[in-house]
Amino acid sequence: MTHPTWCDPARCDARGSAGAHRSRTIVADERRLVRIGLYAPAAAPGVAFVELRCGAQMLHARQAYGLGRLLVSLARAAEDPLR
Ligand SMILES: [Zn+2]
Repeated sequence: MTHPTWCDPARCDARGSAGAHRSRTIVADERRLVRIGLYAPAAAPGVAFVELRCGAQMLHARQAYGLGRLLVSLARAAEDPLR
């Protein structure tokens, strides 16, 4: 099985065409309410999504800036994931 370069074996449950590849989870705020990571269905490991879990409806502007930078970094890591 081919795993994306960003796949974390501890979080990956891809088996054949079932399950999904997942990167490590990044906690984006000190209250631990915003968590992001990369996700790709096992059937399409080259198609990455950003998985966003947000328990807050508002972020401080500085936290939003940090989250934006993290999203850009994830998007870059998702490019050409099967190198
Ligand atoms: Zn994987």
